[in-house]
Amino acid sequence: MLHRATLFAAALAIAGAAAEAEQSRPDIRVTGEITGADHQTYREVPFDVPEGTERITVTLSYDKANRTVVDMGVWDPARFRGWSGGTRDRFTIAPGDATPGYLAGALPAGHWKLLLGVPNARAGSRAAYSIGVSFDRAGTRNASAAIADPPLGDAPGWYRGDLHMHDAHSDGSCRSRGGRKIPCPLFRTVAAAADTGLDFIAVTDHNTTAHFGGLRELQPYFDTMLLIPGIEVTTFGGHANIFGPARFVDFRVGTAAVPDIAALQRAVAASGAILSINHPALPSGEQCMGCGWTWPGTDYRAVTAIEAINGTTTDGPLAGLGFWYARLNEGHRLAGIAASDNHDPDVAPGNPPPGPAPVGRPRTVVHADALSIPAILDGLRAGNVFLDIEGTSTRILEVEAMAGRQRAAMGETLPGRRRITIGAHVIDAAGALSELVLNGQPTGARHEVSSGNARLTWTLDAGQACGWLAVNVRDGRGKPLLIGNPVYLDCSASRARR
Ligand SMILES: [Zn+2]
Ligand SMILES: [Zn+2]
Repeated sequence: MLHRATLFAAALAIAGAAAEAEQSRPDIRVTGEITGADHQTYREVPFDVPEGTERITVTLSYDKANRTVVDMGVWDPARFRGWSGGTRDRFTIAPGDATPGYLAGALPAGHWKLLLGVPNARAGSRAAYSIGVSFDRAGTRNASAAIADPPLGDAPGWYRGDLHMHDAHSDGSCRSRGGRKIPCPLFRTVAAAADTGLDFIAVTDHNTTAHFGGLRELQPYFDTMLLIPGIEVTTFGGHANIFGPARFVDFRVGTAAVPDIAALQRAVAASGAILSINHPALPSGEQCMGCGWTWPGTDYRAVTAIEAINGTTTDGPLAGLGFWYARLNEGHRLAGIAASDNHDPDVAPGNPPPGPAPVGRPRTVVHADALSIPAILDGLRAGNVFLDIEGTSTRILEVEAMAGRQRAAMGETLPGRRRITIGAHVIDAAGALSELVLNGQPTGARHEVSSGNARLTWTLDAGQACGWLAVNVRDGRGKPLLIGNPVYLDCSASRARR
Protein backbone atom coordinates (compact mmCIF):
# COMPACT_ATOMS: atom_id res chain seq x y z
CA MET A 1 0.00 0.00 0.00
CA LEU A 2 3.02 2.23 -0.45
CA HIS A 3 1.44 4.25 -3.16
CA ARG A 4 -1.89 5.05 -1.63
CA ALA A 5 -0.81 8.61 -1.01
CA THR A 6 0.20 9.02 -4.63
CA LEU A 7 -3.12 7.59 -5.65
CA PHE A 8 -5.21 9.94 -3.54
CA ALA A 9 -3.18 12.82 -4.85
CA ALA A 10 -3.83 11.72 -8.41
CA ALA A 11 -6.26 13.67 -10.45
CA LEU A 12 -9.80 12.72 -9.45
CA ALA A 13 -12.19 14.47 -11.71
CA ILE A 14 -15.91 14.37 -11.12
CA ALA A 15 -17.53 15.26 -14.36
CA GLY A 16 -19.83 18.22 -14.45
CA ALA A 17 -22.70 19.14 -16.71
CA ALA A 18 -20.42 19.48 -19.71
CA ALA A 19 -19.35 15.86 -19.47
CA GLU A 20 -22.93 14.65 -19.34
CA ALA A 21 -23.33 15.93 -22.86
CA GLU A 22 -20.21 14.06 -23.87
CA GLN A 23 -21.12 10.45 -23.25
CA SER A 24 -17.64 9.06 -23.68
CA ARG A 25 -16.19 10.94 -20.71
CA PRO A 26 -16.56 9.07 -17.42
CA ASP A 27 -18.11 10.59 -14.31
CA ILE A 28 -14.94 9.84 -12.35
CA ARG A 29 -11.41 9.55 -13.73
CA VAL A 30 -8.57 8.29 -11.56
CA THR A 31 -5.02 8.12 -12.86
CA GLY A 32 -1.92 6.80 -11.17
CA GLU A 33 1.16 4.69 -11.56
CA ILE A 34 2.12 1.11 -10.76
CA THR A 35 5.83 0.68 -10.00
CA GLY A 36 8.09 -2.21 -9.14
CA ALA A 37 7.30 -1.54 -5.48
CA ASP A 38 3.69 -2.68 -6.10
CA HIS A 39 4.78 -6.20 -7.12
CA GLN A 40 2.39 -8.75 -5.59
CA THR A 41 0.42 -6.23 -3.56
CA TYR A 42 -3.19 -5.01 -3.68
CA ARG A 43 -4.22 -1.44 -4.09
CA GLU A 44 -7.65 -0.01 -3.24
CA VAL A 45 -9.12 2.76 -5.36
CA PRO A 46 -12.13 4.24 -3.54
CA PHE A 47 -14.94 5.92 -5.44
CA ASP A 48 -18.33 7.27 -4.34
CA VAL A 49 -21.51 5.98 -5.91
CA PRO A 50 -24.28 8.60 -5.83
CA GLU A 51 -27.88 7.97 -4.74
CA GLY A 52 -30.18 6.70 -7.47
CA THR A 53 -27.47 4.98 -9.51
CA GLU A 54 -28.92 2.39 -11.91
CA ARG A 55 -25.72 1.12 -13.54
CA ILE A 56 -21.99 1.37 -12.96
CA THR A 57 -19.38 0.80 -15.64
CA VAL A 58 -15.66 0.72 -14.82
CA THR A 59 -12.85 0.77 -17.38
CA LEU A 60 -9.16 0.21 -16.71
CA SER A 61 -6.28 0.92 -19.05
CA TYR A 62 -2.59 0.73 -18.19
CA ASP A 63 0.84 0.55 -19.72
CA LYS A 64 1.57 -3.12 -20.33
CA ALA A 65 5.19 -2.62 -21.33
CA ASN A 66 7.67 -4.36 -19.02
CA ARG A 67 5.03 -7.08 -18.47
CA THR A 68 3.20 -5.22 -15.73
CA VAL A 69 -0.09 -7.04 -14.97
CA VAL A 70 -3.03 -5.46 -13.13
CA ASP A 71 -6.01 -7.52 -11.91
CA MET A 72 -9.35 -5.92 -11.12
CA GLY A 73 -12.26 -6.51 -8.75
CA VAL A 74 -14.72 -4.44 -6.73
CA TRP A 75 -16.43 -4.12 -3.33
CA ASP A 76 -19.63 -2.22 -2.67
CA PRO A 77 -19.98 -0.62 0.82
CA ALA A 78 -21.00 -3.98 2.32
CA ARG A 79 -19.87 -6.87 0.16
CA PHE A 80 -17.61 -8.18 -2.57
CA ARG A 81 -19.17 -7.72 -6.04
CA GLY A 82 -16.84 -9.55 -8.38
CA TRP A 83 -13.43 -10.13 -9.86
CA SER A 84 -12.13 -10.35 -13.40
CA GLY A 85 -8.43 -10.79 -12.73
CA GLY A 86 -6.35 -9.65 -15.66
CA THR A 87 -8.81 -10.87 -18.31
CA ARG A 88 -11.01 -7.79 -18.70
CA ASP A 89 -10.44 -4.10 -19.08
CA ARG A 90 -14.04 -3.17 -18.21
CA PHE A 91 -17.09 -4.39 -16.35
CA THR A 92 -20.63 -3.26 -15.73
CA ILE A 93 -22.98 -3.92 -12.81
CA ALA A 94 -26.70 -3.16 -12.70
CA PRO A 95 -29.62 -4.48 -10.64
CA GLY A 96 -30.59 -6.91 -13.39
CA ASP A 97 -27.36 -7.91 -15.10
CA ALA A 98 -23.61 -7.77 -14.78
CA THR A 99 -20.48 -8.70 -16.68
CA PRO A 100 -19.67 -12.40 -16.09
CA GLY A 101 -17.55 -12.60 -12.96
CA TYR A 102 -19.54 -9.80 -11.29
CA LEU A 103 -22.74 -9.93 -9.22
CA ALA A 104 -25.83 -8.13 -10.43
CA GLY A 105 -27.94 -6.54 -7.72
CA ALA A 106 -28.76 -3.36 -5.86
CA LEU A 107 -26.22 -0.54 -6.21
CA PRO A 108 -26.02 1.03 -2.76
CA ALA A 109 -24.86 4.63 -2.62
CA GLY A 110 -21.67 5.31 -0.71
CA HIS A 111 -18.05 4.28 -0.67
CA TRP A 112 -17.14 1.56 -3.14
CA LYS A 113 -13.61 0.25 -3.62
CA LEU A 114 -12.01 -0.93 -6.81
CA LEU A 115 -9.38 -3.52 -5.99
CA LEU A 116 -6.27 -3.62 -8.15
CA GLY A 117 -4.09 -6.68 -7.72
CA VAL A 118 -0.56 -6.59 -9.09
CA PRO A 119 0.74 -10.12 -9.75
CA ASN A 120 3.72 -8.74 -11.61
CA ALA A 121 5.60 -5.43 -11.75
CA ARG A 122 9.31 -5.62 -12.51
CA ALA A 123 11.78 -3.92 -10.22
CA GLY A 124 12.34 -0.34 -11.33
CA SER A 125 9.36 -0.36 -13.77
CA ARG A 126 6.73 2.37 -13.97
CA ALA A 127 3.31 1.87 -15.59
CA ALA A 128 0.71 4.63 -15.81
CA TYR A 129 -2.93 3.59 -15.41
CA SER A 130 -6.26 5.27 -15.92
CA ILE A 131 -9.60 4.23 -14.42
CA GLY A 132 -12.94 5.54 -15.61
CA VAL A 133 -16.12 5.12 -13.57
CA SER A 134 -19.45 5.98 -15.19
CA PHE A 135 -22.97 6.00 -13.80
CA ASP A 136 -26.50 5.77 -15.15
CA ARG A 137 -28.83 7.82 -13.02
CA ALA A 138 -32.21 9.40 -13.63
CA GLY A 139 -31.68 11.68 -16.59
CA THR A 140 -28.04 10.83 -17.30
CA ARG A 141 -26.79 7.74 -19.06
CA ASN A 142 -23.01 7.65 -19.01
CA ALA A 143 -22.47 3.98 -18.24
CA SER A 144 -22.39 1.64 -21.20
CA ALA A 145 -25.10 -1.00 -21.01
CA ALA A 146 -23.94 -2.39 -24.32
CA ILE A 147 -24.02 -6.14 -24.63
CA ALA A 148 -22.19 -5.99 -27.95
CA ASP A 149 -19.59 -3.29 -27.94
CA PRO A 150 -18.25 -2.34 -30.50
CA PRO A 151 -20.68 -3.14 -33.40
CA LEU A 152 -20.50 -6.63 -34.90
CA GLY A 153 -20.60 -5.12 -38.36
CA ASP A 154 -20.03 -1.55 -39.44
CA ALA A 155 -21.40 -1.61 -42.99
CA PRO A 156 -24.84 -0.24 -43.91
CA GLY A 157 -27.11 -2.91 -45.34
CA TRP A 158 -29.94 -5.38 -44.86
CA TYR A 159 -29.74 -7.33 -41.59
CA ARG A 160 -31.95 -10.36 -40.91
CA GLY A 161 -33.33 -10.98 -37.46
CA ASP A 162 -35.87 -12.70 -35.28
CA LEU A 163 -37.26 -10.32 -32.67
CA HIS A 164 -39.31 -12.66 -30.45
CA MET A 165 -38.34 -15.86 -28.62
CA HIS A 166 -38.43 -17.52 -25.20
CA ASP A 167 -36.13 -19.77 -23.15
CA ALA A 168 -35.87 -21.08 -19.58
CA HIS A 169 -36.15 -17.55 -18.22
CA SER A 170 -39.85 -17.74 -19.12
CA ASP A 171 -41.82 -20.49 -20.87
CA GLY A 172 -39.36 -21.86 -23.42
CA SER A 173 -38.74 -25.59 -23.28
CA CYS A 174 -36.77 -28.32 -25.06
CA ARG A 175 -35.59 -31.91 -24.62
CA SER A 176 -32.90 -32.61 -22.04
CA ARG A 177 -29.95 -34.95 -22.73
CA GLY A 178 -32.09 -37.62 -21.04
CA GLY A 179 -35.05 -36.90 -23.31
CA ARG A 180 -37.27 -35.04 -20.85
CA LYS A 181 -39.07 -31.77 -21.57
CA ILE A 182 -37.26 -29.14 -19.51
CA PRO A 183 -37.05 -25.33 -19.28
CA CYS A 184 -34.67 -24.72 -22.16
CA PRO A 185 -31.28 -23.14 -21.39
CA LEU A 186 -30.75 -19.78 -23.05
CA PHE A 187 -27.67 -20.96 -24.93
CA ARG A 188 -29.72 -23.59 -26.83
CA THR A 189 -32.09 -20.92 -28.16
CA VAL A 190 -29.24 -18.60 -29.09
CA ALA A 191 -27.32 -21.43 -30.79
CA ALA A 192 -30.40 -22.48 -32.79
CA ALA A 193 -30.79 -18.90 -33.99
CA ALA A 194 -27.11 -18.63 -34.95
CA ASP A 195 -27.36 -21.92 -36.87
CA THR A 196 -30.00 -20.41 -39.16
CA GLY A 197 -27.63 -17.62 -40.20
CA LEU A 198 -29.49 -14.76 -38.52
CA ASP A 199 -27.68 -11.45 -38.10
CA PHE A 200 -29.52 -10.48 -34.90
CA ILE A 201 -32.06 -11.75 -32.40
CA ALA A 202 -33.99 -10.30 -29.51
CA VAL A 203 -34.60 -12.67 -26.62
CA THR A 204 -37.89 -11.59 -25.08
CA ASP A 205 -38.76 -13.50 -21.94
CA HIS A 206 -42.02 -12.58 -20.24
CA ASN A 207 -41.82 -9.72 -17.73
CA THR A 208 -38.22 -10.33 -16.64
CA THR A 209 -34.65 -9.19 -17.27
CA ALA A 210 -33.18 -12.40 -15.81
CA HIS A 211 -31.80 -13.44 -19.22
CA PHE A 212 -29.82 -10.22 -19.76
CA GLY A 213 -26.81 -11.50 -17.81
CA GLY A 214 -26.80 -14.69 -19.88
CA LEU A 215 -26.87 -12.67 -23.10
CA ARG A 216 -23.86 -10.77 -21.80
CA GLU A 217 -22.05 -14.06 -21.30
CA LEU A 218 -23.05 -15.50 -24.70
CA GLN A 219 -22.43 -12.48 -26.93
CA PRO A 220 -18.62 -12.81 -27.15
CA TYR A 221 -19.02 -16.45 -28.28
CA PHE A 222 -21.84 -15.72 -30.75
CA ASP A 223 -19.80 -12.96 -32.35
CA THR A 224 -21.49 -13.14 -35.74
CA MET A 225 -25.00 -12.53 -34.40
CA LEU A 226 -26.11 -9.52 -32.40
CA LEU A 227 -27.99 -10.29 -29.17
CA ILE A 228 -30.58 -7.65 -28.27
CA PRO A 229 -31.99 -7.74 -24.74
CA GLY A 230 -35.78 -7.68 -24.86
CA ILE A 231 -38.78 -8.21 -22.61
CA GLU A 232 -42.23 -9.42 -23.62
CA VAL A 233 -44.20 -7.07 -21.39
CA THR A 234 -47.14 -9.34 -20.69
CA THR A 235 -50.26 -7.63 -19.36
CA PHE A 236 -53.91 -8.62 -18.99
CA GLY A 237 -54.75 -6.42 -22.01
CA GLY A 238 -52.04 -7.46 -24.44
CA HIS A 239 -48.39 -8.32 -24.98
CA ALA A 240 -45.73 -5.93 -26.24
CA ASN A 241 -42.08 -6.60 -26.88
CA ILE A 242 -39.68 -3.93 -25.78
CA PHE A 243 -36.22 -3.96 -27.32
CA GLY A 244 -33.10 -2.58 -25.64
CA PRO A 245 -34.37 -1.60 -22.18
CA ALA A 246 -31.62 -0.60 -19.77
CA ARG A 247 -33.72 -1.87 -16.84
CA PHE A 248 -36.83 -3.73 -15.72
CA VAL A 249 -40.15 -2.17 -16.74
CA ASP A 250 -43.11 -2.77 -14.45
CA PHE A 251 -45.85 -4.65 -16.33
CA ARG A 252 -48.69 -4.32 -13.78
CA VAL A 253 -50.95 -2.09 -15.86
CA GLY A 254 -54.13 -1.27 -13.96
CA THR A 255 -52.47 -1.12 -10.52
CA ALA A 256 -51.29 1.88 -8.52
CA ALA A 257 -47.76 1.20 -9.79
CA VAL A 258 -48.79 1.46 -13.47
CA PRO A 259 -52.24 3.06 -13.62
CA ASP A 260 -52.77 2.79 -17.36
CA ILE A 261 -51.13 1.84 -20.64
CA ALA A 262 -49.84 5.41 -21.10
CA ALA A 263 -47.87 5.05 -17.85
CA LEU A 264 -46.34 1.83 -19.14
CA GLN A 265 -45.42 3.52 -22.41
CA ARG A 266 -43.71 6.37 -20.54
CA ALA A 267 -41.71 3.84 -18.50
CA VAL A 268 -40.65 2.04 -21.68
CA ALA A 269 -39.44 5.30 -23.22
CA ALA A 270 -37.56 6.18 -20.02
CA SER A 271 -35.83 2.79 -20.12
CA GLY A 272 -34.38 3.63 -23.54
CA ALA A 273 -36.34 0.86 -25.27
CA ILE A 274 -38.70 0.83 -28.24
CA LEU A 275 -42.09 -0.89 -28.09
CA SER A 276 -43.68 -3.32 -30.54
CA ILE A 277 -47.21 -4.66 -30.04
CA ASN A 278 -47.22 -8.46 -30.33
CA HIS A 279 -49.76 -10.70 -32.07
CA PRO A 280 -52.40 -7.95 -31.73
CA ALA A 281 -55.22 -9.81 -33.46
CA LEU A 282 -55.12 -13.01 -31.42
CA PRO A 283 -58.27 -13.63 -29.40
CA SER A 284 -58.47 -12.50 -25.78
CA GLY A 285 -60.31 -14.00 -22.86
CA GLU A 286 -60.19 -17.65 -21.81
CA GLN A 287 -59.25 -18.76 -25.31
CA CYS A 288 -55.93 -16.91 -25.07
CA MET A 289 -55.47 -14.89 -21.93
CA GLY A 290 -54.32 -11.35 -22.57
CA CYS A 291 -53.10 -12.25 -26.05
CA GLY A 292 -54.91 -9.72 -28.25
CA TRP A 293 -54.21 -6.02 -27.86
CA THR A 294 -57.21 -4.49 -26.09
CA TRP A 295 -55.81 -1.53 -24.12
CA PRO A 296 -57.79 1.66 -24.59
CA GLY A 297 -55.76 4.84 -24.70
CA THR A 298 -52.73 3.34 -26.46
CA ASP A 299 -50.50 6.20 -27.61
CA TYR A 300 -49.43 5.05 -31.07
CA ARG A 301 -46.89 7.89 -31.30
CA ALA A 302 -44.98 5.97 -28.62
CA VAL A 303 -45.28 2.64 -30.47
CA THR A 304 -42.49 1.85 -32.93
CA ALA A 305 -43.70 -1.41 -34.46
CA ILE A 306 -46.54 -3.87 -34.81
CA GLU A 307 -45.88 -7.60 -35.00
CA ALA A 308 -47.80 -8.07 -38.25
CA ILE A 309 -46.80 -11.73 -38.48
CA ASN A 310 -46.27 -13.96 -35.44
CA GLY A 311 -44.99 -17.50 -35.98
CA THR A 312 -47.03 -19.53 -38.45
CA THR A 313 -50.07 -17.23 -38.30
CA THR A 314 -49.15 -15.59 -41.57
CA ASP A 315 -52.58 -14.94 -43.03
CA GLY A 316 -56.21 -14.56 -42.10
CA PRO A 317 -58.02 -12.72 -39.31
CA LEU A 318 -55.68 -13.85 -36.51
CA ALA A 319 -52.57 -12.46 -38.24
CA GLY A 320 -51.61 -8.96 -37.19
CA LEU A 321 -51.47 -7.59 -40.72
CA GLY A 322 -55.02 -6.20 -40.65
CA PHE A 323 -54.46 -4.57 -37.24
CA TRP A 324 -51.25 -2.93 -38.51
CA TYR A 325 -52.91 -1.75 -41.73
CA ALA A 326 -55.86 -0.33 -39.75
CA ARG A 327 -53.47 1.73 -37.59
CA LEU A 328 -51.65 2.97 -40.71
CA ASN A 329 -55.02 3.99 -42.15
CA GLU A 330 -55.66 6.00 -38.98
CA GLY A 331 -52.54 8.00 -39.84
CA HIS A 332 -50.08 6.37 -37.43
CA ARG A 333 -46.57 5.65 -38.64
CA LEU A 334 -45.57 2.20 -37.47
CA ALA A 335 -43.08 -0.35 -38.73
CA GLY A 336 -44.46 -3.80 -39.40
CA ILE A 337 -42.29 -6.67 -38.21
CA ALA A 338 -42.41 -10.49 -38.23
CA ALA A 339 -41.05 -12.89 -35.61
CA SER A 340 -41.16 -16.55 -34.67
CA ASP A 341 -42.26 -16.31 -30.99
CA ASN A 342 -40.32 -19.58 -30.72
CA HIS A 343 -40.67 -21.50 -27.45
CA ASP A 344 -38.56 -24.54 -28.40
CA PRO A 345 -35.22 -24.47 -30.24
CA ASP A 346 -35.65 -28.17 -31.13
CA VAL A 347 -38.33 -27.23 -33.69
CA ALA A 348 -36.64 -28.06 -36.98
CA PRO A 349 -35.95 -25.24 -39.45
CA GLY A 350 -38.15 -26.95 -42.04
CA ASN A 351 -41.05 -27.72 -39.69
CA PRO A 352 -44.12 -27.14 -41.88
CA PRO A 353 -46.97 -24.84 -40.79
CA PRO A 354 -49.25 -25.00 -38.91
CA GLY A 355 -46.75 -26.69 -36.56
CA PRO A 356 -44.77 -24.45 -34.25
CA ALA A 357 -42.41 -21.99 -35.91
CA PRO A 358 -38.66 -22.60 -35.65
CA VAL A 359 -36.33 -19.84 -34.50
CA GLY A 360 -35.74 -17.55 -37.47
CA ARG A 361 -39.04 -18.09 -39.32
CA PRO A 362 -40.47 -15.63 -40.08
CA ARG A 363 -37.82 -12.95 -39.87
CA THR A 364 -37.62 -9.18 -39.98
CA VAL A 365 -35.09 -7.68 -42.37
CA VAL A 366 -33.94 -4.20 -41.36
CA HIS A 367 -31.88 -1.73 -43.34
CA ALA A 368 -29.43 -0.43 -40.74
CA ASP A 369 -26.25 1.63 -40.72
CA ALA A 370 -24.41 -1.09 -38.78
CA LEU A 371 -24.95 -4.30 -36.87
CA SER A 372 -25.27 -2.83 -33.39
CA ILE A 373 -28.16 -2.45 -30.98
CA PRO A 374 -28.55 1.32 -31.53
CA ALA A 375 -28.34 0.90 -35.32
CA ILE A 376 -30.92 -1.91 -35.47
CA LEU A 377 -33.31 0.02 -33.20
CA ASP A 378 -32.80 3.12 -35.36
CA GLY A 379 -33.48 1.00 -38.44
CA LEU A 380 -36.78 -0.18 -36.97
CA ARG A 381 -37.68 3.43 -36.14
CA ALA A 382 -36.85 4.51 -39.70
CA GLY A 383 -39.00 1.71 -41.14
CA ASN A 384 -36.92 0.60 -44.13
CA VAL A 385 -37.92 -2.91 -43.20
CA PHE A 386 -39.47 -5.95 -44.87
CA LEU A 387 -40.87 -9.22 -43.56
CA ASP A 388 -39.45 -12.49 -44.90
CA ILE A 389 -42.23 -14.91 -44.08
CA GLU A 390 -40.38 -18.14 -44.91
CA GLY A 391 -37.26 -16.98 -43.08
CA THR A 392 -34.80 -17.23 -45.95
CA SER A 393 -31.23 -15.99 -45.98
CA THR A 394 -31.47 -14.63 -49.50
CA ARG A 395 -34.78 -12.89 -50.30
CA ILE A 396 -34.76 -9.13 -50.65
CA LEU A 397 -37.56 -6.61 -51.17
CA GLU A 398 -36.32 -3.08 -51.81
CA VAL A 399 -38.89 -0.41 -52.58
CA GLU A 400 -38.32 3.11 -53.83
CA ALA A 401 -41.09 5.52 -54.74
CA MET A 402 -40.61 8.72 -56.70
CA ALA A 403 -42.60 11.93 -57.03
CA GLY A 404 -40.78 13.93 -59.68
CA ARG A 405 -37.20 14.02 -58.45
CA GLN A 406 -38.06 13.23 -54.85
CA ARG A 407 -37.36 9.66 -53.74
CA ALA A 408 -38.51 7.73 -50.73
CA ALA A 409 -37.63 4.29 -49.39
CA MET A 410 -39.95 2.31 -47.13
CA GLY A 411 -40.65 4.28 -43.96
CA GLU A 412 -40.10 7.60 -45.73
CA THR A 413 -42.54 10.20 -47.00
CA LEU A 414 -43.32 11.73 -50.38
CA PRO A 415 -45.60 14.66 -51.03
CA GLY A 416 -49.01 13.32 -52.07
CA ARG A 417 -51.34 14.37 -54.89
CA ARG A 418 -48.52 13.84 -57.38
CA ARG A 419 -47.97 11.15 -59.93
CA ILE A 420 -45.95 8.50 -58.11
CA THR A 421 -43.67 5.90 -59.68
CA ILE A 422 -42.93 2.87 -57.54
CA GLY A 423 -39.97 0.56 -58.14
CA ALA A 424 -39.40 -2.76 -56.38
CA HIS A 425 -36.25 -4.85 -56.48
CA VAL A 426 -37.12 -8.45 -55.61
CA ILE A 427 -34.38 -11.04 -55.16
CA ASP A 428 -34.89 -14.81 -54.97
CA ALA A 429 -38.66 -15.00 -55.44
CA ALA A 430 -38.89 -16.02 -59.11
CA GLY A 431 -42.38 -17.11 -60.14
CA ALA A 432 -44.11 -15.25 -57.30
CA LEU A 433 -46.57 -12.40 -57.78
CA SER A 434 -45.86 -8.89 -56.60
CA GLU A 435 -48.72 -6.54 -55.82
CA LEU A 436 -49.04 -2.85 -55.07
CA VAL A 437 -51.11 -2.06 -51.98
CA LEU A 438 -52.66 1.36 -51.44
CA ASN A 439 -54.01 2.21 -47.98
CA GLY A 440 -54.22 -1.46 -47.11
CA GLN A 441 -56.08 -2.57 -50.26
CA PRO A 442 -54.50 -4.40 -53.20
CA THR A 443 -54.70 -2.10 -56.21
CA GLY A 444 -55.03 -5.05 -58.56
CA ALA A 445 -51.78 -4.02 -60.21
CA ARG A 446 -49.75 -7.22 -60.05
CA HIS A 447 -46.55 -8.31 -61.72
CA GLU A 448 -45.08 -11.73 -62.00
CA VAL A 449 -41.61 -11.82 -60.49
CA SER A 450 -39.94 -12.99 -63.67
CA SER A 451 -36.49 -13.86 -62.36
CA GLY A 452 -34.43 -14.28 -59.24
CA ASN A 453 -33.32 -10.68 -59.61
CA ALA A 454 -36.37 -8.76 -60.79
CA ARG A 455 -37.14 -5.05 -61.06
CA LEU A 456 -40.83 -4.15 -61.15
CA THR A 457 -42.54 -0.80 -61.52
CA TRP A 458 -46.00 0.66 -60.92
CA THR A 459 -47.46 4.13 -61.22
CA LEU A 460 -50.13 5.88 -59.21
CA ASP A 461 -52.11 8.80 -60.60
CA ALA A 462 -51.97 12.06 -58.66
CA GLY A 463 -55.63 11.67 -57.75
CA GLN A 464 -54.96 8.39 -55.93
CA ALA A 465 -51.75 9.38 -54.19
CA CYS A 466 -52.68 10.03 -50.56
CA GLY A 467 -52.08 7.86 -47.49
CA TRP A 468 -49.54 5.10 -47.87
CA LEU A 469 -48.45 2.46 -50.35
CA ALA A 470 -46.62 -0.83 -49.99
CA VAL A 471 -45.37 -3.70 -52.12
CA ASN A 472 -45.99 -7.33 -51.14
CA VAL A 473 -44.91 -10.58 -52.77
CA ARG A 474 -47.09 -13.72 -52.65
CA ASP A 475 -46.71 -17.23 -53.99
CA GLY A 476 -49.04 -18.72 -56.61
CA ARG A 477 -51.54 -19.77 -53.91
CA GLY A 478 -51.65 -16.28 -52.44
CA LYS A 479 -49.49 -17.04 -49.39
CA PRO A 480 -47.33 -14.10 -48.39
CA LEU A 481 -43.58 -14.45 -49.01
CA LEU A 482 -42.39 -10.86 -48.54
CA ILE A 483 -44.31 -7.99 -46.96
CA GLY A 484 -43.08 -4.45 -47.43
CA ASN A 485 -43.32 -1.51 -45.09
CA PRO A 486 -45.18 1.63 -46.16
CA VAL A 487 -44.04 4.64 -48.12
CA TYR A 488 -46.15 7.53 -46.83
CA LEU A 489 -47.87 9.98 -49.19
CA ASP A 490 -48.45 13.21 -47.32
CA CYS A 491 -51.39 15.17 -48.70
CA SER A 492 -51.51 17.69 -45.84
CA ALA A 493 -48.06 19.00 -46.76
CA SER A 494 -48.34 18.89 -50.53
CA ARG A 495 -50.33 22.09 -50.91
CA ALA A 496 -48.19 24.04 -48.51
CA ARG A 497 -45.01 23.06 -50.29
CA ARG A 498 -46.09 24.08 -53.73
ZN1 LIG B 1 -47.20 -13.09 -26.36
ZN1 LIG C 1 -43.90 -14.54 -26.83
